Amino acid sequence: MSKVRLATVWLDGCSGCHMSLLDIDEGLVAVAKRADIVYGPLVDAQEFPENVDVTLVEGAVSNQDDLKLIQTIRKRSKMIVSLGDCAVTSNVPAMRNSIPVKKLLERIYVEGVQENPGVPAQGVPPLLKHAVPVHDVVKVDLHIPGCPPRAEAILYVITELLAGRKPDLTSKVKFG
Ligand code: SF4
Repeated sequence: MSKVRLATVWLDGCSGCHMSLLDIDEGLVAVAKRADIVYGPLVDAQEFPENVDVTLVEGAVSNQDDLKLIQTIRKRSKMIVSLGDCAVTSNVPAMRNSIPVKKLLERIYVEGVQENPGVPAQGVPPLLKHAVPVHDVVKVDLHIPGCPPRAEAILYVITELLAGRKPDLTSKVKFG
C-alpha cells in the first residue's frame, strides 16, 4: 500500500502548533509507517510538492508570501487542515488588524529606532491589510482549534485521516 503524502506548513504563527505536533511523541513512529512527510519545517524541502494528500496549516494568512503559498497548497493538496486558533480564527496575528499597515510599519521600523530608521523595501513580504484565517482565502476541509491544539487531538486527526475516516472532533478540542 502506498504511503499517504503528508505536508505541514507554518504561516503567521509562533511554531507552538508544530511543537504540539511533535508532542505526539511515539505516535510519530506510527505516523511515519503510514505517511511520508513531504514538506514543512520538519523536513528539508524547498518547494511545496505536487500531489499532497493532507496538509496541516499552522498560522494565519498575513502577507503576500503566505497568500501565494496557501494558494499553491490548495491547488496541490487533496485536503487542507487548519491547525490551531491562528489558522482557524487568525487569533494572535489579528491583533494588528485595527492598525493601518502603514502606521504599523512606521511604528516598528521608524519611530524610536536609533540607527537607520526606515521601512524596508526588500526582504520583507508586503503585509496584507488584515491577518485572516486560512478559510478566508482558500477552502479548508477540517479545523482543529486550540492554542495550541492538544497533541492527542492532532494524533487522533492524523490517525483517522490515514485510516480513510473523517475525524469527529466533538468533545476533543476547544478554542484557546
Ligand atoms: S494557535 Fe497558538 S500555538 Fe498555534 S501558532 Fe497560534 S499562537 Fe502559536
